[in-house]
Amino acid sequence: MRRFFFNTEQRSGETVILCADESRHISRVLRYKPGRQVELQDGKGTIYLAEIMDTSENVRLRILAERSGAKKGNTGLLVGQGVIKTKKLELVLQKCTELGVDGFYPFLSSRCQGDLIRQYRGKGERWRRIIDEACKQCLRSRPMDLQAIHPFEEIIDLPEIEDNVVKLLFWEHERETNLASLQEPLRPGSPVFLLFGPEGGFCEEEIECAGRAGWQTVGLGQRILRAETAVIAAVSIVQHHLGNM
Ligand code: SAM
Repeated sequence: MRRFFFNTEQRSGETVILCADESRHISRVLRYKPGRQVELQDGKGTIYLAEIMDTSENVRLRILAERSGAKKGNTGLLVGQGVIKTKKLELVLQKCTELGVDGFYPFLSSRCQGDLIRQYRGKGERWRRIIDEACKQCLRSRPMDLQAIHPFEEIIDLPEIEDNVVKLLFWEHERETNLASLQEPLRPGSPVFLLFGPEGGFCEEEIECAGRAGWQTVGLGQRILRAETAVIAAVSIVQHHLGNM
């Protein structure tokens, strides 16, 4: 059954009025008529069964039932990504959403390209739409939480990150430890925070600073991967170790 997004302010009582985009998709593309049932999700993890009442303007629906969404996105998996070129970041946002990442923390480090921050300005709404679309496509009920851009020094020492979180910093010069040889193997349910550098990577000082803050450096083999390749590969392998793929 097709599933559509709404924000809580679009609901009054058991009636929901969808936004123009979702309405157009239902009435013009799918040509659904009143009486047809669809699923709705509010982005907070609840799934609703609803009946289409009117498609003349913005589509109006009546909620018939609700259930809490499968916790597809609730893997306790966080990703921190040094600021990279906008198109690459948008690919990473989409893939991390599909792969079940819970929270995404863009950060600024010494080798991030300075002018990128200007390009990032005003993109928040677009990036949340990319995440929402990826959620719809992969039937994920809870969207990935997109954080504001933090400086590197803050990312490695976030107060909200519990002590039991496994903190892994991916470094192309790490030759001893990889995801299969971690001192503490990843188990289903382990909360994990993964950190990836920008196109220019991490400087030595950042590696040392992260080490002092309890981050373990991890290698992904001999080849130097593009930033976006490293994130997708590492998140997939970690999700496998966590029993989610
Ligand atoms: N500093 C490198 C250089 O200039 O050749 C490239 C950095 S790479 C493009 C961007 C990020 O991807 C790195 O900071 C690291 O987080 C990750 N990465 C790429 N290859 C990796 C590997 N073989 N092992 C671990 N992490 C890797």
